[in-house]
Amino acid sequence: MATLILAEHVEGRLSEATRSAVTAARSFGCDIHVLIMASETCAETLSQQAAFIEGVTRVLCVAAPHLETQLAEDLAVQTQTVLERGSYRYALMSSGYEGKRVMPYLAALRNTDLVTDLIKIEEEDTFVRPVYAGSLLVVERLKSAVKLLSIRASAFSPAGLQAMAAPIEMVAPLPPNLAVRLVERSGKHSSRPELSQARIVIGYGLGVGKNEVPNIEKLADKLNAAIGVTRAVVEEEMASSEFLLGQTGKIIAPELYIALGISGAVQHLAGIKDSKVIVAVNKDPNAPIFQIANYGIVGDVRDVVPALIELL
Ligand SMILES: Cc1cc2nc3c(=O)[nH]c(=O)nc-3n(C[C@H](O)[C@H](O)[C@H](O)COP(=O)(O)OP(=O)(O)OC[C@H]3O[C@@H](n4cnc5c(N)ncnc54)[C@H](O)[C@@H]3O)c2cc1C
Repeated sequence: MATLILAEHVEGRLSEATRSAVTAARSFGCDIHVLIMASETCAETLSQQAAFIEGVTRVLCVAAPHLETQLAEDLAVQTQTVLERGSYRYALMSSGYEGKRVMPYLAALRNTDLVTDLIKIEEEDTFVRPVYAGSLLVVERLKSAVKLLSIRASAFSPAGLQAMAAPIEMVAPLPPNLAVRLVERSGKHSSRPELSQARIVIGYGLGVGKNEVPNIEKLADKLNAAIGVTRAVVEEEMASSEFLLGQTGKIIAPELYIALGISGAVQHLAGIKDSKVIVAVNKDPNAPIFQIANYGIVGDVRDVVPALIELL
């Protein structure tokens, strides 16, 4: 019996979420197979990266030009074929962007249930996941023979490395799905760390005026931090939704989260409350963010941010 992990990757690098999925899978005590589905140019490098993740016992590599687009339709059908030919008990990936697209498609193909965004594995068939922005935890039991799961990557620390590489097996690719094609992928390229992987994240809210944003970017550069925002900031069109933190955005658990001019609405806290240390700067001493912050500065961001830059 084995667990199949659908690897996630960007620009030829395995994402940290894949290593977190391996950590989650280790608690099942089965063999761990990592499935790489990628273009021919990076499939081999990715397979080698996966082979050295601690706990991985086999890497299955599917390489084909059309897999470069990572369309859910192609990935789900390919995964279904792999699941059918092996003796798998679990198939899992993170509940990030890829997991939200691929896992429901796979569940529909298999006509089976799926537990999404789980944060804890209680037993081999029992999983815990948060609902209502984390105010409640639901315990779900899956009865299906092959259990489909998506994990919240920030709830599982990324697996380390092993000295001996796991074997890599090539798997024949299926033809592409001709009904769907990728028209365009857009987004700004940033030299900053990715939000879900950054050790330090600076979040800013409506309390930060447009004129203050360059200073926040300066502070982020000093700390090698990623920048996230509240929904109010996105609605004001001061930042794009890819930087949104919270219930309807990204969920992060960095070592340090600095909240600038953020009130601390429950929907925002849902995305950042697992941060190891939270520092909040707000001019209102009664702002709810101070209830969750480890360190609070009651002050104006227009004074505090330049002072921090000066200090660093
Ligand atoms: C269904 C639903 C889903 C949602 N999902 C999300 C989500 O995923 N993420 C999210 O963030 N929000 C989400 N929201 C919105 C959320 O409820 C809040 O409205 C939002 O988070 C508030 O953003 P804010 O803290 O930037 O703004 P505000 O609530 O307006 O707070 C601004 C803060 O800045 C402080 N401030 C003002 N000026 C200064 C200054 N000069 N110096 C220091 N402090 C200052 C103020 O005291 C205040 O506390 C959702 C809402 C709904 C209904």
